[in-house]
Amino acid sequence: MDLSKNQGSIWLDGRMVDWQEANVHVLTHTLHYGVGVFEGVRAYNTPKGPSIFRLQDHTDRLFKSAGIVNMEIPYAKETINNAHIDVVNLNNLEESYIRPMCFYGSEGMGLRADNLKVHTMVAAWEWPSYMEPEAREKGIKVKVSSYKRQVRNPVSSAKVNGNYVNSIVALNEALEAGFDEALLLDEEENVAEGSGENFFIVKNGILKTPDLEASLDGITRRTIIQLAKDMGMEVEIIKIKLHDVLESDEAFFTGTAAEVVPINSVNNESLGNGSRGPITEILQSTYFDQVRGLRDENSNWHSYVR
Ligand code: PMP
Repeated sequence: MDLSKNQGSIWLDGRMVDWQEANVHVLTHTLHYGVGVFEGVRAYNTPKGPSIFRLQDHTDRLFKSAGIVNMEIPYAKETINNAHIDVVNLNNLEESYIRPMCFYGSEGMGLRADNLKVHTMVAAWEWPSYMEPEAREKGIKVKVSSYKRQVRNPVSSAKVNGNYVNSIVALNEALEAGFDEALLLDEEENVAEGSGENFFIVKNGILKTPDLEASLDGITRRTIIQLAKDMGMEVEIIKIKLHDVLESDEAFFTGTAAEVVPINSVNNESLGNGSRGPITEILQSTYFDQVRGLRDENSNWHSYVR
């Protein structure tokens, strides 16, 4: 798949441009230094047509990330929300992945450049499954990464382009060793998150997830915490060590792209029953019912596009 060859329209700086024309110059500041902010958003088919899941929360996080790197987005949040809705509609998409990004232009080079324009793009395309479709049932094999997540650094906990160098080298290390995903520890040896997913374990019926000192405030994480609490499950936000993971009954990752993915082993040590656990299964199926508009609860999480 070469995304640049797609047909359709991309929202760029306030207007729709032809997919092939949505280009930037090689001296684009963000391309050189990684100072940019972005989101990964999904639209799902629901009985009321396509709906963008938790759009306002994604847009709020985009602006929060921008604030952390002192980037001023030159649009109102509502304009960005509408751009998402328009790209899904104009490209006739139903289930789709949506990528907004704010990045600096090529008005200056060097770390001291201060005259940079902020550009904003929103693109959408079909991207059905981030991992192998069977992974939802069978689970995935995870390798503890040799790369670490920084602790208590607001920049590294925001959705900033440059942070993804660490995620990508960690993921590639895991893939090259025959695993499906990396699990990153932080500099203090607490479990942090995956390369692009938050992390959960289940022990004696209690759902546990790391605090946000070394991980992104994931919107899927927030969703799962709320769905679990609504079901009457106990949820603990705590430091998790690797031995807690190895002794857990179940473990899974969450993310907009990855959705809810069971973890069946860590460093080739089998977890729990070695496949998707019962609590993971119920949270996963409730999540899919929620995003697909099959539940009455949390209707404010839906932004219908037509
Ligand atoms: N952690 C990282 C590093 C991520 O890139 C993502 C994906 N945005 C997540 C966690 C999950 O966040 P969300 O559920 O908001 O997609």
